[in-house]
Amino acid sequence: MKATAINFSAQRKEELISLTQELIRIKSVTGQEKAIIQFLKEKMLEMGFEEVFIDEMGNLIGRIGSGKKILAIDAHVDTVAIGRQRLWKFNPLGGDVSQGKIYGRGACDQKGGLAAALLAVKLLIIQGFPKNLTLYFVASICEEDYEGLSWQFILNNKLFQPKAVLLTEPTDLTIACGQRGRMDIKVEVQGLPSHGSEPDMGINAINLMATIIQELKTLHESLPTDEIFGKSTLAVTAIQSASNSLNTTPHHCSIHIDRRLGKKETEEKALNEILSLPGVHKANAKVFVPKSEVKTYRNFICQIKHYFPCWLMEEQSLLVSVAKNAFEDAFHKQAKLSYWRFSTNGVATKGGYKIPTIGFGPGKERFTHTKMEHVAIDDLVAACNFYFAFIQRFAKAKKNDYR
Ligand SMILES: [Zn+2]
Repeated sequence: MKATAINFSAQRKEELISLTQELIRIKSVTGQEKAIIQFLKEKMLEMGFEEVFIDEMGNLIGRIGSGKKILAIDAHVDTVAIGRQRLWKFNPLGGDVSQGKIYGRGACDQKGGLAAALLAVKLLIIQGFPKNLTLYFVASICEEDYEGLSWQFILNNKLFQPKAVLLTEPTDLTIACGQRGRMDIKVEVQGLPSHGSEPDMGINAINLMATIIQELKTLHESLPTDEIFGKSTLAVTAIQSASNSLNTTPHHCSIHIDRRLGKKETEEKALNEILSLPGVHKANAKVFVPKSEVKTYRNFICQIKHYFPCWLMEEQSLLVSVAKNAFEDAFHKQAKLSYWRFSTNGVATKGGYKIPTIGFGPGKERFTHTKMEHVAIDDLVAACNFYFAFIQRFAKAKKNDYR
């Protein structure tokens, strides 16, 4: 059965525009999300969410319903920094409207998607919320610096357990079914210092690393290509050495590797490839994935490992067909499937925890993080229509396993 559609009056459209503008006007660079989380908490309570709370880390979670079908909608509230303001044509915190588009930091990534999804939920509450559904709306933090961190916290601490997750990051109104993975890798070697005038007396750590770097270049060329995500890559992006003085051979050298992973590549595979290089063996190099400590706006400290797995939803999965049906209900045409180039919280929900996950959002990926960041008002309206149809279709699905 088809989902009912929103009657988008001029007043509704105005409500969606002003909610998006309000969100843009609240600065929320990663680590400074307190004000926008407070604002959204008030909004959710006003809208009729049954339970609204801020978790220990600082994510805002709102719940409606207590049915067996459990859906989570995720929208990250943090943005990247504004950068040099004089390069912007519009005020980055203004939410100015020009020629049918709303401009500002976060307009596209991803306050537009957040506003459209919230309004869709509000309209469903007004219409009568599906009885068999539990909906968790997560306004997540820290995504721009550490995608997946917020969901790692939520799922590790079992705050709730959704059957599926809808991400509202920009997809240009296509259904996003996955993304490449990424990881950081560090390689460290130790040498033996000697006087710079007697280099053959010691072991030069830079020379050891030079051999490894050559081998890594060859390794990059041999990495696999898959039909969805293209070629996997490996790039050395930093190098550092230490010596007791400029006339002593270095005793230490380390490099940083940016590794992009295709669908069959895991952390273990990527590390083993490097560990089996002859130069790594000969130098007895240390190869590892670095970890960071992150302090949130609530002064909560969490650890994150720099491994963000690739994830992919099969086209035949129930969640993708629910999304396709919702798209047809909303727009009377066939949906397009897509795959993100950038990284999202899906690295945790699907990549780490295997919860069926898809994405849908207004805005184009190429405008994210730029000084021209904007979202088209027509796309906001379309996204709101899609979310409204999607939630109903999700509740109506015959099975409760969305894989
Ligand atoms: Zn984003």
